[in-house]
Amino acid sequence: MAIKITDECINCGACEPECPNNAIYEAAEDWKFSDGNKLSGTIILPNGSKYNAEELQEPKNDEVYYIVADKCTECKGFFNEPQCAAVCPVDCCVPDEENEETEEQLLAKKRFLCKD
Ligand code: SF4
Ligand code: SF4
Repeated sequence: MAIKITDECINCGACEPECPNNAIYEAAEDWKFSDGNKLSGTIILPNGSKYNAEELQEPKNDEVYYIVADKCTECKGFFNEPQCAAVCPVDCCVPDEENEETEEQLLAKKRFLCKD
């Protein structure tokens, strides 16, 4: 499953540069699927959702850092553990129960996000 950031976040920013998928954003910051990868134009996610990769999307949290679940692979394919959770000083990067995925699904998402 994806990882999420809880309201305990102190906005220290330590997690953001550690994410291999560019899935972490500052509070109130717009985000794009194409941030940090080569996605462009119309994309269809492995879960069937359709987006424009370069279109700005609304922030998912206006108060604290947030994770875009559709870009989070729980670090599968890169590291043995979620890097955001590993560096967070207040342990507020936790499993997102609303976005449960199998390891296969997470690896498919990683391949999709990282394709050349
Ligand atoms: Fe990024 Fe990994 Fe944290 Fe997901 S678990 S947000 S991929 S650092
Ligand atoms: Fe928030 Fe933890 Fe990320 Fe710092 S490392 S911004 S406390 S989620």
